Amino acid sequence: MTEKDMREIGRMEFLLTLRRRGIGDQAVLRAMEEVPRADFVEPGFIETAYADQALPIPCGQTISQPYVVAYMTEQLALRSHHRVLEIGTGSGYQAAVLSRLAREVVSVERYRTLAAQARERLAALGYNNVEVVVGDGFAGCPARAPFDRIIVTAAAEEVPQALLDQLADDGIMLLPVGPHNGPQRIIKLTKSITGTGTGTELKREELISVRFVPLLPGRAQEL
Ligand code: SAH
Repeated sequence: MTEKDMREIGRMEFLLTLRRRGIGDQAVLRAMEEVPRADFVEPGFIETAYADQALPIPCGQTISQPYVVAYMTEQLALRSHHRVLEIGTGSGYQAAVLSRLAREVVSVERYRTLAAQARERLAALGYNNVEVVVGDGFAGCPARAPFDRIIVTAAAEEVPQALLDQLADDGIMLLPVGPHNGPQRIIKLTKSITGTGTGTELKREELISVRFVPLLPGRAQEL
């Protein structure tokens, strides 16, 4: 069997694993099938690119586990007209998956190196509705707000207020919340207009347990 055959088998198993673990949204499965994860991992990890595990990327960060990427994407209930804010570009993989399902993705990363690499990859793959911005995700991207959907891919100890402020009415925000090295849960926040139409209210749901790298304040001082 050639290396290419092996990779094809890996990609088929990858989709089966996602289905088996409960991902049912066809559009999400198609996006997961379409985006080549092997192009987002480091050269030494190409062989394990389609295993259901998080992998190391530069700057001491990680590319998330495919199941968690698919799960969070499914929970966002994306529509093709949505504008999405992602905090924590990392490799750019989650942004690429989002870009297949939404109109526009703005992704914020605190490391310049990671942002530059992700930008280059996304452009090479032709995912041109993603904009990668270097900045502090705690502040979001007020210049481009409001966003229909917000996804944070690093764990916060509390929900950052600036992000909530940038969420559109009827918006959904997903983020892992919990201590830096302890148990975290994905929290889903749904904003809606109150019955009287005078303001907005927020519904909070706790979803699956996860382990993400921490959301750290400020831009990275190093590259
Ligand atoms: N979504 C990524 C996974 C990223 S890991 C992927 O698909 O590969 C989390 C990322 O969040 C890291 O790259 C880390 O540098 C970044 N991060 C942590 N705190 C941040 C902050 N305050 N603002 C922006 N990015 C942040």
